[in-house]
Amino acid sequence: MSEPKKLYIKTYGCQMNVYDSERMSETLGGQGYVETQSPDDADMILLNTCHIREKAAEKVYSELGRFKGLKAEKPDLKIGVAGCVAQAEGEEIMRRQPLVDLVVGPQSYHRLPEMEAKTRTGAKALDTDFPEEDKFEKLKNRPNAKRGPTAFLTVQEGCDKFCAFCVVPYTRGAEVSRPADRIIREAQDLVERGVREITLLGQNVNAYHGAGANGDMTLAGLIWELNKVDGLERIRFTTSHPNDMADDLIEAHGTCEKLMPYLHLPVQSGSDRILKRMNRSHTAESYLRLIERIRAARPDIVMSGDFIVGFPEETEEDFQATMDLVEEVKYGYAYSFKYSTRPGTPAAERPQVDPDAADNRLQRLQALITQHQREIQDAMVGRKVKVLFEKSGRLPGQMVGKSEYLHSVHVSDADVAVGELRGVQITASGANSLAGALI
Ligand code: SAM
Ligand code: SF4
Repeated sequence: MSEPKKLYIKTYGCQMNVYDSERMSETLGGQGYVETQSPDDADMILLNTCHIREKAAEKVYSELGRFKGLKAEKPDLKIGVAGCVAQAEGEEIMRRQPLVDLVVGPQSYHRLPEMEAKTRTGAKALDTDFPEEDKFEKLKNRPNAKRGPTAFLTVQEGCDKFCAFCVVPYTRGAEVSRPADRIIREAQDLVERGVREITLLGQNVNAYHGAGANGDMTLAGLIWELNKVDGLERIRFTTSHPNDMADDLIEAHGTCEKLMPYLHLPVQSGSDRILKRMNRSHTAESYLRLIERIRAARPDIVMSGDFIVGFPEETEEDFQATMDLVEEVKYGYAYSFKYSTRPGTPAAERPQVDPDAADNRLQRLQALITQHQREIQDAMVGRKVKVLFEKSGRLPGQMVGKSEYLHSVHVSDADVAVGELRGVQITASGANSLAGALI
């Protein structure tokens, strides 16, 4: 039997890229590839890239430059670029870095086997189309291999919202939802292979409207269907847009037992003037009222968000409105970014904020978010939570898992296996995690 070929995939960016990398790896498994953790012994290197913020493309070029020596030693080594930089730069990547053999956009991953075969003839392969066929159906099924207790599952891709700062509608294309029966089948398969928690993914996951048995299904409808899957213990979803937070989804947070009390709901800014300039089509007030309704349905829900500071024309007063909104919501987690100019997006042409002022605002915002994050985490001490154990900890006998609120929880001398869901009494709160004892 011939030696399997080795594939090294490096993943940048969001959870959707993590999911895509898994599917690409499994698809290339059909070509005789197994994954390796080191580029040095790889027969194929694939960079799955992200284009959401500046310098992403430059980082990819410098990473590619580092493979020059390897390629010289091993002329048969194939190097590919996937993901949103591949989509945005296309052929330019091969022009600037001739050692690249393959460039594949996010909608063409199912064509990887043919593309890989083409590179083996010495030719280059490029595909940045938005084909009609269902990529997910054409991608090779996940093999029967065991999985860890948590998995991502993409249910929706692309975006039609065109926020003025964002490249996603250009790199990932128009919003598309996968049919519900295929998602349920994939979830059942994951559960059979050991998965206990599934996070449904989409750039705008709550805009999901995939075909169901009786017409289009909402995200809440899909969650209720997944709630029936035996062996699946937990359901999460990300990322949501405030305007697509439908009543049935809010209600599900109060009534669906497997849906976890955690919600990532980006707002980007607390200033209505800036939200309008961002083309967000919600106001700070409408967002706050929405959170009130969500908390009425599920009072203990932990909120998470995304923020951009230093968006073009943001004043100190606009920034203060963001700080006020954060003070009111009190996020358990939040991701904040300095605005990054994306060529081709409407905001790129507008007057930019002084970078030092933007840095200073980012620091102030992050300090406030960290303070709330810590307060919410500390308030868990003394409470009983349920932990899904995911791996061994650094200390002997220690096990680590996640609570329903997504906090990391460490338990010492824990007589539990990976994949077990157990009650834990929280005893202490550290910098980024909680400690507890099995109940
Ligand atoms: N669809 C989600 C939403 O509308 O909230 C967000 C998806 S986007 C991939 C993830 C986050 O990246 C955004 O919420 C935003 O905070 C950030 N982001 C997007 N474009 C950015 C830019 N040009 N500069 C800085 N941050 C950006
Ligand atoms: Fe980008 Fe999200 Fe806005 Fe869509 S809704 S354009 S993905 S930030």
